[in-house]
Amino acid sequence: MRSNWKSRKRSRYIDAAGRMCHACGESLGQDLEYDRYTELIRGVLCQYCSGAVYECPHPDGCYRADYLNHPPAGHLRERYYTGGNRNDRPRLRGAAA
Ligand SMILES: [Zn+2]
Ligand SMILES: [Zn+2]
Repeated sequence: MRSNWKSRKRSRYIDAAGRMCHACGESLGQDLEYDRYTELIRGVLCQYCSGAVYECPHPDGCYRADYLNHPPAGHLRERYYTGGNRNDRPRLRGAAA
């Protein structure tokens, strides 16, 4: 589901760190990626990285770990959900009343 706030935030992150994937830099960035705990957006990732970035086993020294540790547009600290659609919230929070 696409909405305007998402594309606005996406363009802010793209302005800050480029339209290529913020982790691998080799494919076009597609999706906003955010910290599941803080809900702060870290960057824009390609489809491959957005699925694989959490599976990185390295504490540092590879592009995925580098992205997680120091996201190139992370200073923007935009929240993923701001006045968002409740139905758009992640499942793990869906049960909270
Ligand atoms: Zn990538
Ligand atoms: Zn890794």
